[in-house]
Amino acid sequence: MVFARGNKADYDQWAAAAEAPQWSYENVLPYFQRLESCSVSHASHGAARGRSGPCHVSDHTHYNHCTEVWIEAAQQCGLPYNADYNDASQPQEGVARAQVLIHNGARVTAASAYLWSRSAAERPTIICNARVTRILFDEHTPLRACGVEYLLHDAVAATTVSKVSSSLSIYQSLDLAMPRCRAWL
Ligand SMILES: Cc1cc2nc3c(=O)[nH]c(=O)nc-3n(C[C@H](O)[C@H](O)[C@H](O)COP(=O)(O)OP(=O)(O)OC[C@H]3O[C@@H](n4cnc5c(N)ncnc54)[C@H](O)[C@@H]3O)c2cc1C
Repeated sequence: MVFARGNKADYDQWAAAAEAPQWSYENVLPYFQRLESCSVSHASHGAARGRSGPCHVSDHTHYNHCTEVWIEAAQQCGLPYNADYNDASQPQEGVARAQVLIHNGARVTAASAYLWSRSAAERPTIICNARVTRILFDEHTPLRACGVEYLLHDAVAATTVSKVSSSLSIYQSLDLAMPRCRAWL
């Protein structure tokens, strides 16, 4: 629920280490801007933040006296106050008030922002409670994924599609893709 973009230097190091310039901060910034509607009171007014995306980023409103004391104490220990830790044009280090993905008192999720906000006709088909067990590959083009096999209520099912996009977390995605990669190598 806390919203933090991550550190600019990490993206730039990934881009350099993997020779993948598309992961540099400069290149991922437009996606960060596109996803958010930022109403954080101390956010920079420049181009760093997005204003019209589906994910509402706002101030955390549950502050009390201890919060103020904590922020003050951190500064007395030498940490600078950071008004907007999601603006990479300034250093991210420091003590800050949390920015959160909350809108009208409810948590903003990928589902609420991108799925439930659309009409039923616009939404993709969603199969709930399915566990993907295997990525299916094209018989003639070995590295082309063409579907998935999954478990639904203890029954094995499969679906073929023109494009497979895996977002099962980095570990699960690799775990399912690796057997085919190993075989190909
Ligand atoms: C407490 C906490 C706070 C965080 N805060 C931040 C933050 O402020 N900023 C930030 O950038 N990052 C933050 N992160 C990290 C961030 O949440 C993750 O990096 C990100 O969610 C990873 O996204 P993902 O889509 O790769 O995987 P996930 O979000 O883990 O999604 C994977 C999904 O795939 C499903 N799945 C897995 N295996 C299968 C299968 N075989 N079949 C079907 N479905 C499957 C899982 O159930 C899950 O729903 C935080 C993480 C935690 C735990």
